Amino acid sequence: MFMSDERNSGTGIADRLSYVRGRIRAACERSGRRPEDVTLIAVSKTKPMSDILEAWKAGATHFGENYVQELMQKEEAFENTGAAEPIRWHMIGHLQKNKVKYLIGHTALIHSVDSIPLAEQIEKEAAKRDQAVRILLEVNAAREESKWGFDPSAVFQAAREISAFPHVRVLGLMTSAPYTEEPETNRIYFRGLHECAQRLASEKLLSVSEPDFRVPVLSMGMTGDYEVAVEEGATMVRVGTGIFGERHLQTV
Ligand SMILES: *Cc1c(COP(=O)(O)O)cnc(C)c1O
Repeated sequence: MFMSDERNSGTGIADRLSYVRGRIRAACERSGRRPEDVTLIAVSKTKPMSDILEAWKAGATHFGENYVQELMQKEEAFENTGAAEPIRWHMIGHLQKNKVKYLIGHTALIHSVDSIPLAEQIEKEAAKRDQAVRILLEVNAAREESKWGFDPSAVFQAAREISAFPHVRVLGLMTSAPYTEEPETNRIYFRGLHECAQRLASEKLLSVSEPDFRVPVLSMGMTGDYEVAVEEGATMVRVGTGIFGERHLQTV
């Protein structure tokens, strides 16, 4: 396969993973941040278990999936390998209300809460199981018609309502910036999301003292723009193509 793009440099998943980690470290250095404050989520949607295991052996522990069923199948397949070091599964795709009941207890963090009814459904299912579910509010930062997420003007009110739910912990914000060949054009959206999260935190609308995550969580930056996102304060970047190569299938 012809690979001209430097983000695909290296020959396999382990090489690409280490390349991405290096770029994240460099972006941290440029912006005076600590690399350990940025979690790399390997987005494995449509990719086979063999790819996930390859990334896991190379040290990846956080994986992102877009479909509930695929996430759960992969979680089970991974558990059946008997691996000692666990994987943290992140739900990053649009979540339908009728799928929430399957997901509770199977994910470290739901990034894609994009409506109050969805949050209500999570509250209801979490309450049934007496669990607390950690979520991010998805923001449609560039107000794209094709994207899910709260309008930036609606995030505050949504956080106010959802943070009152007893079984839902709002840790921060997530966005998918526009697809672009020029990552600098997304800087404004990342900066805006960072400011919004800081305001939510100062208004005490975010959960505090979470054992595994540094709050506020800012999940932003994908293969095309994660370096700019890190410079603007991302605490989680979601990289698929840059680690696993192009996706050819819609789903497994
Ligand atoms: C697919 C996907 C990603 C990863 O995209 P790449 O451009 O392949 O890095 C990140 N976030 C979400 C929500 C996605 O759906």
